[in-house]
Amino acid sequence: MIYKRSSALFKEAQKVIPGGVNSPVRAFKAVGGDPIFVKEAKGAYLYDEDGNRLIDYINSWGPMILGHAHPPVVDAVVEKAKKGTSFGMPTEIETKIAELAVSMVPNIDKIRFVNSGTEACMSAVRLARGFTKKDKIIKFAGCYHGHSDSFLIQAGSGAVTFGSPNSPGVTEGTAKDTLLARYNDLKNVESIIKSNKGEIACIIIEPVAGNMGCIPPVKGFLEGLRSLCDAHNILLVFDEVMTGFRLAKGGVQELLGVDADIVTFGKVIGGGLPVGAFAAREEIMNHLAPLGPVYQAGTLSGNPLAMAAGLAMLTELNDNVNIFDSIAKKTKYLHEGISKVLTEKNVVHTINRIGSMISVHFSENPVVDFESAAEGNNETFKKFFHGLLDQGIYIAPSAFESWFITEALTYKDLDETIKAVSVTAESL
Ligand code: PLP
Repeated sequence: MIYKRSSALFKEAQKVIPGGVNSPVRAFKAVGGDPIFVKEAKGAYLYDEDGNRLIDYINSWGPMILGHAHPPVVDAVVEKAKKGTSFGMPTEIETKIAELAVSMVPNIDKIRFVNSGTEACMSAVRLARGFTKKDKIIKFAGCYHGHSDSFLIQAGSGAVTFGSPNSPGVTEGTAKDTLLARYNDLKNVESIIKSNKGEIACIIIEPVAGNMGCIPPVKGFLEGLRSLCDAHNILLVFDEVMTGFRLAKGGVQELLGVDADIVTFGKVIGGGLPVGAFAAREEIMNHLAPLGPVYQAGTLSGNPLAMAAGLAMLTELNDNVNIFDSIAKKTKYLHEGISKVLTEKNVVHTINRIGSMISVHFSENPVVDFESAAEGNNETFKKFFHGLLDQGIYIAPSAFESWFITEALTYKDLDETIKAVSVTAESL
């Protein structure tokens, strides 16, 4: 494939945008090479600036669950745009999407819309702190909740349980309130709670992790967190920015039957426009301004175009719940196909999958947490990524990302992908 124009555009971009991108993972740093500039997209395909067609397994990092430029979503946005793009005043459509979201997701009475998943998680933590009147939070190594300071924390040294900043600009003061736990390790969480008794406001978790590849919770893990939270007056925050409206109509709470206290959303809920949201039962949500003392606001929150896209998307998912089964079946088909050809070619691998999320790891051990995800062979992943790209298959340019399957993918697309994996596997 030729990427002449993409490379030229990347050169230009780097002069005026740091690293040439507006979000770091787009820059291909983990896999090498220049990023591809997209011209347009339709259904399961991206069309780049050089005229290449790519089968897309990133789908804007999750939102495009029904494929790109899905007509009901596009129509809703176009119609809304004609009537004004932002008012900073209440609109009826905000209530409509709120009613629909609340009816689809278990355990939430009220929802507040923001502009990104980061904002949703940041606000959820503030609300949890305001509600419980406690300061510390527990997050899990390898889980990503956006780029807010409290989440950019890595493991502290030795026996110290509190984290340290993993980006300059995050203060030690902030880091000391974020405690870092191991995913899928209940005993570890229990011991952190014990040594910070009465100080923890919330545990925030991706209930199915998608930011260290796809890692489902082991049996009993989420249930165990629920019990610990109940026993210690801690709120359980499910970050369903990736999983919400993707793994089931009601997200992981519905899929795995575990209740959260606060849930955050992003990606699918905005239908591809910048939307995030956080939601909880009334008692908690009423702590938010203007009803309560916990401040949270946004000039463009509940923006009419974003709400129109989100409402069109959620309406379709609510009306056609078979979509979730259908994409899960496609994902299983892909899993089995990839696994078969990699095994035939003696490529050591582990594939994780749940619903329409899947990730391929080049290690033989089970991938259950950040440490085991990091064991994967990154050199093999780089070759895998570029081998697929050369054949028109676009997966995330990092071994630590989940692939997102869309309803727009056909079985023919999946077969083409499996064939490309088979060809690539020859040189792994
Ligand atoms: N939470 C999770 C689980 C995510 O995967 C992401 C982004 O990928 C975020 C939060 C942050 O969302 P955003 O990029 O919209 O700020």
